[in-house]
Amino acid sequence: MSEELFREDSYLKSCEAKVVTSVDGGIELDRTVFYPSGGGQPGDSGIIRTQYGSELSVIDTLKGENGAIIHVLAEDVTTIPKVGDMVTLEIDWDRRFKHMRMHTTLHLLCALVDGSITGAQVGAEKSRVDFNISESPDKEKLGQDLNRLIKENHPVSISSISDAELDANPDLVRSLSVSPPRGSGSVRIINVDGVDLQPCGGTHVAATGEIGAVRIGKIENKGKQNRRINIHLVE
Ligand SMILES: [Zn+2]
Repeated sequence: MSEELFREDSYLKSCEAKVVTSVDGGIELDRTVFYPSGGGQPGDSGIIRTQYGSELSVIDTLKGENGAIIHVLAEDVTTIPKVGDMVTLEIDWDRRFKHMRMHTTLHLLCALVDGSITGAQVGAEKSRVDFNISESPDKEKLGQDLNRLIKENHPVSISSISDAELDANPDLVRSLSVSPPRGSGSVRIINVDGVDLQPCGGTHVAATGEIGAVRIGKIENKGKQNRRINIHLVE
């Protein structure tokens, strides 16, 4: 099981780590700043520097078995580090920060749309989220409300509650497509102060102002009880 440094501090861009397993095409480390694909958020990419001075390209990060986090190496990587080697990890921060901005935007949307999430995909260029609603929200008003919540710069904080407390408060769960990050006896809770509170394992910005301006793209009719909202960052 890797120590997941990104859970406590999503702003960590690099760390030192020790190679735990090294398999064809991927390596596992004792700790990492790389977020593994999950909850609609893509896995991080970046580089691993070995103690011998070579730089390996990480093209994706995935969850393996028993809590393992697999750093997927580019196909042209020939020198794979050995178990026990010390390496330096560095994520592609530009891409990850966009994921954090987008992901936090989805929490704000939950506060503005009266429905549950049935699917979501965060991307650096575009994100989409499906809600189980039968009427499309007013696009212009939604965009205005979203940008107002961003500008109000609400702090985002991390806490945890027990599995039993979550069971006693089922309304906290806003996503029907991603189950809360249970299993360790406690569940990670993300609080966008005064706006949204829900279990989530992803990476978020520290305050909503960091998201910057966003634009609502197409709102698509994906069935009787499903509307897909597309979101873009305004650079
Ligand atoms: Zn989240």
